Amino acid sequence: MAETNGQWRVPLADIDLGAEEEAAVLAVLRRRWLSMGGETAAFEADFAALTGAAHALAVTNCTAALHLAGMALGWGPGDEVIVPSLTFVATANAVRYTGATPVFADIRSEDDLSLSPDDVAARITPRTRAIVVVHYGGYAADMPALLAVAERHGLDVVEDVAHAPGGSLDGRALGTWGRIGCFSFFANKNMTTGEGGMLTTDDDGLAERLRLLRSHGMTTLTWDRHRGHAFSYDVVAPGYNYRIDELRAAIGRAQLAKLPANNRRRAHLDAAYRAQLAVAAPELGLPYARARGVSAHHLRPALLPPGSDRTRFMTEMKARGIQTSIHYPPVHLFSLYRRDGGPNLPLTEAVAAREVTLPLYPGMSSGDLEMVVAAAAEALAAARADATVAAGGRAN
Ligand SMILES: *Cc1c(COP(=O)(O)O)cnc(C)c1O
Repeated sequence: MAETNGQWRVPLADIDLGAEEEAAVLAVLRRRWLSMGGETAAFEADFAALTGAAHALAVTNCTAALHLAGMALGWGPGDEVIVPSLTFVATANAVRYTGATPVFADIRSEDDLSLSPDDVAARITPRTRAIVVVHYGGYAADMPALLAVAERHGLDVVEDVAHAPGGSLDGRALGTWGRIGCFSFFANKNMTTGEGGMLTTDDDGLAERLRLLRSHGMTTLTWDRHRGHAFSYDVVAPGYNYRIDELRAAIGRAQLAKLPANNRRRAHLDAAYRAQLAVAAPELGLPYARARGVSAHHLRPALLPPGSDRTRFMTEMKARGIQTSIHYPPVHLFSLYRRDGGPNLPLTEAVAAREVTLPLYPGMSSGDLEMVVAAAAEALAAARADATVAAGGRAN
């Protein structure tokens, strides 16, 4: 940690890499087969076992997974797909790749930062094809309510599970509630392969379609031909090259083995945050006090009191060696997505303006956490004092 995050006493996130990953990569190098093959098949089997999905397909990244999901479900120009705005921009961009139009819906509350089933229902038109649900911060969105809305209107549901590998709701893994789940193994996620992603589905036909689109629309792989299982191939769709490789798959298997324990460690740290911040900084809002299901605890979001100076808060944290971030600048306010008038997303805008993400990663010590809590109390006092002075200045 000291080497890679030298400027921070406590970075926002840190990866758990060790001898397991080194050995796994070395074994692949020594086998001398690097493109998608047996190691990837084993990674997919491990991931299907973790989620209980009938099919798991590894891909280059979660953005590619979302794109493939939309293509496999037949989204195209003229279609509308409802997405949250309080997400990483890839959720919306991937809808655009298919030619469909992302339509932004609001979050549910200051406690549940995922899609509001009521607001989703209000944005459905005759053109709506699907809903992409993001499990913000690793916490389960209200899947029963969202699936009920989708069913009422004949819509497909895709889950963006980038934050929530290992999370579940009512005993069912996140990523297996909708028709397709899209996971990310980017370097700051709960498990990483550097770049990487996974698709999950229970639908045999969709799995076949996703498999074809992942690799040029070709009916056989180089791996099949290498093993003597095929001599040639046909091309049946204008597919992509969204394959993962064996080195990443090997890292992924090692990371997956550590995921349950690392998610439990995240849960333990998050509970400590909640207990300690309630005493040290009670004005700080901590979403998901009433969370349902088993969270993957990817993020610890905090909401500053209205009127606080967020930049000052983050600057004070930085001065104490603590990295913070914002999840997220709302996608509908980016230049690319801003339209005349823009959609009305009052809760998203209010929450996004006050949100600060605190450090959370399995390797964080209790001493690190106490340092963050103490710094947050001081930074909050400074951010609020400034806000009071500014408000007084305006009043005069
Ligand atoms: C990280 C992330 C993505 C993109 O994942 P990549 O694997 O980097 O493509 C998509 N959606 C959400 C919510 C994310 O956090």
